[in-house]
Amino acid sequence: MAKANEILAILKEMLPEVRTELAYENLYQLTVAVVLSAQATDVAVNKATPALFARYPDFTALAQADYDELREMIKTIGLAPTKARNLINLSRKLVSEKGGMIVPDPEYLLTLPGIGRKSANVILSEGFGIPRLAVDTHVARVANRLGLAAATAPARIEAEICALYPPAEWHQLHLRLVLFGRYHCLARKPRCHECKLTAYCQYYTNIAPVE
Ligand code: SF4
Repeated sequence: MAKANEILAILKEMLPEVRTELAYENLYQLTVAVVLSAQATDVAVNKATPALFARYPDFTALAQADYDELREMIKTIGLAPTKARNLINLSRKLVSEKGGMIVPDPEYLLTLPGIGRKSANVILSEGFGIPRLAVDTHVARVANRLGLAAATAPARIEAEICALYPPAEWHQLHLRLVLFGRYHCLARKPRCHECKLTAYCQYYTNIAPVE
C-alpha cells in the first residue's frame, strides 16, 4: 500500500494536470468517440469526428445515418465497417429505449453495440463523474510493470488497482496511467532512462538492460 501511494505521488508529480485526449463537447460526442477509439489512436479519432458530429449532431441523427456514408466518414480510423454498424445500432437502441440519451447505468451500457467494460467505464467516469477505472492496453501494461496488478485480464487488473486506491483517485489515475504509457512507458521501448519509477518497476528490475 505504501508502495502504491508512492507510485501515485510520483505519477502526480510527473503528470500534474491530466485530461482525456479524445475531443468531445457532450455525452453524445464522448460516446461516439469512445466507440471509435477501440484499437485506434485518439489522434485518428479526433481527425474524423468533427465532420461526423457536424453531419450527425445527436443519437437521433446517427440512428438514421446511411451505413455506407458513415463507414466512409470513419474509414481512416480502422475497423470502419464494424464501428459504423455499431454506432447506428447503438443509436437506434438509445432512441427507442432511452429517448436518445446515454444513461449512467453500467449494466445497460454493456448491452449497447460496441460498448465493452472499458468503454462503459470511460463513459461513466469521464462523462458522468462516477468513479470507475477503465483498463486499456496502456493501463494494463504499466500496472503490470509497476506491480500494481499481477493479472492479465483487464477486469482483474481493474479490481486489483481499485483495491489499492480510493474511488476518488480512480479516474485521474486511469488518465495518468494512459498518458504515462502512451508517452513514457512505451510498449516496445519504454523510456526507463528518464523514468522516476525505476525503483518500483518490476520490468526495469528484471528485464530492462542497464542503461
Ligand atoms: S522504469 Fe521503464 S518500464 Fe518501468 S515504469 Fe519506468 S518507463 Fe516503464
